[in-house]
Amino acid sequence: MEGLRGVAVLGGGAAGLAAAISAARAGASVAVVDRMPRLGRKILATGGGRCNLSNDNLSPAAFSSTEPELVAAVLDRSGNTEIQSFFRGLGLLLSADGGRVFPATNQAATVVKVLELEIRRLGIAVQLGFDTRTLDRRGDSFRLGAEDGRRLAARTVVLAAGGKSYPALGSDGSGFELAGRLGHRIIPPVPSAVPLLVKDKMCHALQGQKIKARTKAWVDGVETAEAGGELLFTAYGLSGPAVLDISEPISIALTRDGRKNVVLAADLVPFLSPGDLETEFSRRMKAGWPRQDLAIGILPEKFGPMISRLIPAGEDQNDAGAPALAAALKDKRFAVHGTRGWNEAEFTAGGVEAAEVVSPTLESKRCPGLFLAGEILDVQGPRGGFNLAWAWASGLIAGRSAAGFR
Ligand SMILES: Cc1cc2nc3c(=O)[nH]c(=O)nc-3n(C[C@H](O)[C@H](O)[C@H](O)COP(=O)(O)OP(=O)(O)OC[C@H]3O[C@@H](n4cnc5c(N)ncnc54)[C@H](O)[C@@H]3O)c2cc1C
Repeated sequence: MEGLRGVAVLGGGAAGLAAAISAARAGASVAVVDRMPRLGRKILATGGGRCNLSNDNLSPAAFSSTEPELVAAVLDRSGNTEIQSFFRGLGLLLSADGGRVFPATNQAATVVKVLELEIRRLGIAVQLGFDTRTLDRRGDSFRLGAEDGRRLAARTVVLAAGGKSYPALGSDGSGFELAGRLGHRIIPPVPSAVPLLVKDKMCHALQGQKIKARTKAWVDGVETAEAGGELLFTAYGLSGPAVLDISEPISIALTRDGRKNVVLAADLVPFLSPGDLETEFSRRMKAGWPRQDLAIGILPEKFGPMISRLIPAGEDQNDAGAPALAAALKDKRFAVHGTRGWNEAEFTAGGVEAAEVVSPTLESKRCPGLFLAGEILDVQGPRGGFNLAWAWASGLIAGRSAAGFR
């Protein structure tokens, strides 16, 4: 075993790398461990390889957490301005696209590169392939134990092991087990920003088709979320931003709360009011348009065969079916019976209860000397750079706090 480090950072993802850098800058001797063969593996996959690393509209109100005051306190000290200046200080130029902040190179690899260079410059020790199985407090220090027998001792630990999403990229939920063994309550994690399983002939018939839509999540008859954007029909159900953005309450209802009455309602023609759509169908029907052509110019051609199925039997004379057809497309209901799970979830909802860390230092209230940062905490932001922003912000604060402990 190496000598005693000041700070051990468990997890070399966004939160862990920010924590390691800020702890070292504050004068601590720092080691980072990660089970993967390289640092920042998940960062490379973010934003479709572009890394949407923050958002110009970053605000605590956009996040959900059991402890909103903690999110506000962290972002107050380390918000979008501080995150951007952290990266500019590393030599990373940034550009914004509709509020979403990206590296100017449009390459996630550049983000990892500048972080790695700073880690090296600061002399931070890195241990890769260090699959941490044990994290124990002994007296006034901590011991980390890896599966292969390696050991690391440190006065303080930043636990930044992420959540459970995309386990192939490193975070497999083991951080929750380690935090749980140190006395933390874990709010049952569920996949978030995840495609949804739907049994509906429309999905099967239209698989591969993308349209612009507005979507709503309904749980037991109560509307819980709303979004707009691209909707993708797939063989298993629904995906695309308009689905991912409302998937969290649906996933919580199905996976955590065991609810059965979970519905995604989609407005498939968001650019026309219900009245205007009905008038347009009425006009086309009166003019004798074939049923499979009724939606031409409104929806992609692939919808043709579906359209006649949406006109109730007995209402196909003249324009009698126009109201029902317009209503079916403006408020198409899909019963959701599951999610695509952890391998396709961009984020984890739930995790270490945020009320169990001190605001704003992020020190554990259960285990002094342990600090938590990133997705491991029960803090969720919308897609668009918010979750990485939370990871950097909480990492920077946790690292600094861990370096200054006692
Ligand atoms: C495909 C995809 C795209 C995304 N795109 C965006 C985006 O563009 N913008 C955005 O804001 N958010 C995005 N996210 C979400 C964002 O990537 C995460 O919220 C963020 O990376 C979380 O950072 P973290 O450091 O807390 O956790 P992670 O990045 O998951 O890092 C945790 C690290 O801990 C290591 N680790 C875990 N357990 C152990 C253990 N037992 N021993 C040793 N090491 C361990 C893991 O290997 C990993 O490297 C995306 C997520 C995915 C999956």
